[in-house]
Amino acid sequence: MLFPFDNSYARLPERFYARLPATPVAAPLLLKLNMALVAELGLDAAALAGPEGVAALGGNAVPEGAEPIAQAYAGHQFGGFTAQLGDGRAILLGEIVTPAGLRRDIQLKGSGPTPWSRRGDGRAGLGPVLREYIVAEAMAGLGVPTTRSLAVVATGEAVYRQPPVPGAVLTRVAASHIRVGTFQYFAARGDGPALEILAEYARARHHPGAEGVAGLLRAVVAAQASLISSWMLVGFIHGVMNTDNMTISGETIDYGPCAFMDAYDPAQVFSSIDYGGRYAFANQPRIAHWNLARLAEALLPLLPGDEDAQMAEAQAALADFAPAFHAAYLGGLAAKLGLPARDDAFTQAFLTLMAANQADFTNTFRGLCDAADGDDAVRAEFADPRAFDAWAVEWRARLAGATPAAAMRAVNPAVIPRNHLVEEAIAAAVEQAELGPFEALTEVLARPFGPPPAEGRYSLPPRENERVLATFCGT
Ligand code: AMP
Ligand code: MG
Repeated sequence: MLFPFDNSYARLPERFYARLPATPVAAPLLLKLNMALVAELGLDAAALAGPEGVAALGGNAVPEGAEPIAQAYAGHQFGGFTAQLGDGRAILLGEIVTPAGLRRDIQLKGSGPTPWSRRGDGRAGLGPVLREYIVAEAMAGLGVPTTRSLAVVATGEAVYRQPPVPGAVLTRVAASHIRVGTFQYFAARGDGPALEILAEYARARHHPGAEGVAGLLRAVVAAQASLISSWMLVGFIHGVMNTDNMTISGETIDYGPCAFMDAYDPAQVFSSIDYGGRYAFANQPRIAHWNLARLAEALLPLLPGDEDAQMAEAQAALADFAPAFHAAYLGGLAAKLGLPARDDAFTQAFLTLMAANQADFTNTFRGLCDAADGDDAVRAEFADPRAFDAWAVEWRARLAGATPAAAMRAVNPAVIPRNHLVEEAIAAAVEQAELGPFEALTEVLARPFGPPPAEGRYSLPPRENERVLATFCGT
């Protein structure tokens, strides 16, 4: 048996999903199996890499115990509501419970059309699939809650984009695929019974310590405040924080036009379709709060008491977001600076200095670890190194003789999936069928807090001609 399935979502009412298998592909070829994740999930690598395994991961055979479904959801995309989105190119095979006792969804993405596909073909290009693989696994390495990438299978078919590209299927592993938009789907239909079932299911699955719907809402607010702060502490920009791309579990999901910043710029936007900068780096907490307000609206009729009490409860839950986010983010920044305690004005002054001096976000914080040991090479990250020197005098005064370098290295990565490296790995795979750069990059990104990789290029920012100016949605 490939997966010891134990499906619970497929037991929920039929209107929560459509039952259908993935659409078979011409010539499934396993390009990548995530061995570390295979082990973590307690799966059999040889079986998954064998003919039956590849047929299952490519969507050509329904593995034993699977109950394939496409999940229903709605969502606000760039602020506009669509009552019917759903899995247009993904199939949930089922769930497994890992040896550590964690319930995990096994989903195929790029698996063919579903009743929710609208005009889409239900497929994914190899480039976007590798991009999601790389960035999701990098996030896991960085300790950021995220969906995981288990396998990449080439379909042997072209996907008709401009220009046509080779197709692929990603096997995605997630705590679940329940989104803010899943609640909105039933709220938009006025389906109170379904909302109630979904809320209890999500509470029990993700936030079992929470009490009732009010507890669920508060738990999601807390999980998202923590998640967004962990993004901001590594310079991550999601790029498309629509409500259908925000999980109830608190995992990062849907790596489309996402990117890590090189030089620190709070207004940074990479997504080619984010014209207004709605999902810019520094906007992410505000947008998360906005999305959570949409969740609160959907849950409102399930909250206890009369309408006034429900509204008060929702507002109280949402009011927890800002303090929770600030505690995690500002506390995290203090740790990145090696400070013994939060020092918000000082921390903010450093970010302002970095922005004014086009300092590389990752390398500046990592360089500070060495500076804590007395090596001030990091000053070269600043357009005006003397500005750093002046700041460093105050910083050393605050360190007061402590030696926080080792602790700082545990929270300041030496490597991130820099856009130009991700693009390089994708181009080699798509244009030359060469997976070496992808393998090498994922290897380096698995241990971001260790000693910097021997090959310096993995930690260098892009040269002028390597700079990636825009990223695109993964369709
Ligand atoms: P995303 O922007 O990836 O979060 O997707 C938004 C919605 O579009 C979801 O309902 C997806 O299932 C759907 N979608 C994205 N790409 C495709 C595609 N190639 N074919 C069908 N549906 C798609
Ligand atoms: Mg999505």
